[in-house]
Amino acid sequence: MKYFSTKNKIVAYSLEEAVLMSLPPDNGLFMPEKIPQLRPEFIANLKNENVASIGYEISKTLLGDDIPHDVLKKICNEAFSFPVNVVNVHNNTYVCELFHGPTLAFKDFGARFMSRVMSYLNRKHTTPLTILVATSGDTGGAVADGFHNVEGIEVYILYPSGGVSELQEKQLTTYGNNIHAIEVKGTFDDCQKMVKQAFMDKDINDKLFLTSANSINVARWLPQQFYYFFAYKQWTDKNNPPVISVPSGNFGNICAGILAMQSGLPVQHFIAASNANDIVTEYLLSQKLIPKQAVATLSNAMDVGNPSNFVRIKEIFRHQFPALKSKLSSYSITDAETIATIKTVYEKENYVLDPHGAVGFLSLERYLQSHPRQKGIVLETAHPVKFPDAVESCIGKPIDIPVSVQTIMKKEKMSILIKADYGQLKEYLLQ
Ligand SMILES: *Cc1c(COP(=O)(O)O)cnc(C)c1O
Repeated sequence: MKYFSTKNKIVAYSLEEAVLMSLPPDNGLFMPEKIPQLRPEFIANLKNENVASIGYEISKTLLGDDIPHDVLKKICNEAFSFPVNVVNVHNNTYVCELFHGPTLAFKDFGARFMSRVMSYLNRKHTTPLTILVATSGDTGGAVADGFHNVEGIEVYILYPSGGVSELQEKQLTTYGNNIHAIEVKGTFDDCQKMVKQAFMDKDINDKLFLTSANSINVARWLPQQFYYFFAYKQWTDKNNPPVISVPSGNFGNICAGILAMQSGLPVQHFIAASNANDIVTEYLLSQKLIPKQAVATLSNAMDVGNPSNFVRIKEIFRHQFPALKSKLSSYSITDAETIATIKTVYEKENYVLDPHGAVGFLSLERYLQSHPRQKGIVLETAHPVKFPDAVESCIGKPIDIPVSVQTIMKKEKMSILIKADYGQLKEYLLQ
């Protein structure tokens, strides 16, 4: 399989180039040259499959020319070693829990798969790969966990001192070995600026083989379709496929679901569940995608004012607006509605949603009100314990903390503290 930039259909890239570069030089996004068509028997016989075996079947079609099948199988088994639960919360509403991975958010799927794919693709290079990322919270933890002890890769994570939650900081700073946490006396924007400077610095690039673990990397995007198949496996009403509601920020997750549908997965309709950052909700009304300054909300992992993956969705629908609109709806949910949803769902159904899942839940409810014969699945993208302040005040009691989190909270923080000064970062990276 070759990969093309969304901005250029002429120059083909190998999987290795697409993954190790992350972004094509023209600033488009990489897309596979074609969308594989899965065998109908595969879809009909999902009942014996798990996320790892589904991942293996699908990754053979996308990555199988470049990575031997036994290696892909091992990558999938290692990366997807945690459960996914589908819970019936209400008559016509199911929640697919994607938060049982090590950092309690769905980003574990992409990060764990990408790290292993990168390690394999870099095996012939003698210099280790150096991953440099800035994080405002969630991405850093998933990247730290995903790359921990992965051979031939060193990871440097910059985060704003005092700008992440205690749990998030522990998830960045307690792995050790090849994971290096750099605490910056500054803001997330300072961190991001320093990372950008390093990518453009000749001295750094002469010495290190630098790459990013950006969420638009194909090796992070593509594995996000696997759990859609897993959720469908548990769908009993095969004559009436599910409506799927996806809490969306940068639109990577929902775009992977749409890819799954184009490969053969039965899906009635997709819902892009947004918070106050309503760029796509507006687009579906006006046909104009107008980036805005992001506004801060309770579902902060979706505070994105210019969703980078949306162009991939347009590409999948060949830029045909009516086709896109017939498969995608979007709602913009306020913080007040998010809180009310967490409360009601807890009181009526005894189920605890996190703020991102609540945005997804209410969006699905709105859609089902006008489509009463349909049923849906909400992707729950984070464990409620990641947002204790918002959630506990809604449900009026503390949330049970998973054992994995209890362990990490007891570990010792390891990080170096630097000023928001590029010179200090450079010195550290070059030493
Ligand atoms: C990153 C994230 C999202 C948004 O996912 P996209 O793929 O960027 O749309 C939603 N919920 C949580 C908890 C996240 O961490």
